[in-house]
Amino acid sequence: MAFKVLPAPSGKHRRPRRAALRTGTTLAGVAVLTAAGTFGATAATALSTPGDAAPKVEDIAFARAVDASDTLTNSLAAQAAAQHKAADETKRQAAEAKRKADEAKRLAEAAAKKAAAEAKAKADREAEREAQARAARDEERRKLNSFVLPVDSAIGTGYKVPGSMWSSGYHTGVDFIASTGTPVHAVGAGTVVTAGFDSAYGNNVVIRHSDGIYTLCAHMSSLSVSVGQTVTTGEQIGLSGATGNVTGPHVHFEARTTPDYGSDIDPEAYLRSHGVSI
Ligand SMILES: [Zn+2]
Repeated sequence: MAFKVLPAPSGKHRRPRRAALRTGTTLAGVAVLTAAGTFGATAATALSTPGDAAPKVEDIAFARAVDASDTLTNSLAAQAAAQHKAADETKRQAAEAKRKADEAKRLAEAAAKKAAAEAKAKADREAEREAQARAARDEERRKLNSFVLPVDSAIGTGYKVPGSMWSSGYHTGVDFIASTGTPVHAVGAGTVVTAGFDSAYGNNVVIRHSDGIYTLCAHMSSLSVSVGQTVTTGEQIGLSGATGNVTGPHVHFEARTTPDYGSDIDPEAYLRSHGVSI
C-alpha cells in the first residue's frame, strides 16, 4: 500500500496535521493505536472498504484525534467558563458580604454615636438639675446665714475703744447711733437666751445663733421677746432707748462666744462674716 499526501480534513477541522500522519502511518502504527484503544472497529471497517474513494485510515485516525482534541478543547472551554462563572460568583458574594459588613459597621457606629449623645444629654440634664439644687441649697443657706444690722444706722463708738467708764477698761461692743424708740432687730435667726434688765445694760436681749455665737443688744426702752423664743433674721426684738449705764440713747451691740459678759469678740467682723456690709 502506497502512501500519498493526505487531503485536508473535511468539515470544520483545520488543524495542522501531525508529523506522524504527514510522513505516513503504517498499519502497525494504526494497530498500535488500536491496541491503545484510541479507535478500533471503525478503523477496521475503513480498512476493509475497497476503492480509492474510501477514507484512509490516516484520515480517520486524524479525524478521530481532532474530534477527541476538540472534545477536550470544548470540555476545557466549558470548564474554564464554569470556573470564570464560579470566580465571578465568588467575587459577587465577597462584594455582597463586604457591603453587608460595611452596612453593619455603619449601623453599629451610628447606634454607638446615638447612645453616646443620649448618655451625654442625660448627664447634662442631671448636672443641670444638681446645679439648680445646689444653687437652691446655697441660697437657703445664704438666707439662713445672712445677717442684718440691729438698727440701720452708723456706728458711733467702736469695739475695744479704751475708756475708764467701762469696767473692763475698754468698749466690749459697738454703739449704733439711734434715737429712743427705733426698732431693734435680731441680727440673725436664733433663740433668745436673755431678755431682761440689769444695771449696766439696761433692757437687753441675748440671742444664741446657729453657729454657736451670741449677740447682745442693750439699753433698749422696751423688749418684745422673751427667753426661749426663737427669732428670725431681722425680727424686731424691742425699741432703742437709754436704759442702764449710758450717757444718751443708742444701741450697744456685742458678739460673744458665751452668753456671758467678758467673752466678747469683734462684732463688726462677726457681722461681716455673715454677709453684712459694715
Ligand atoms: Zn456701748
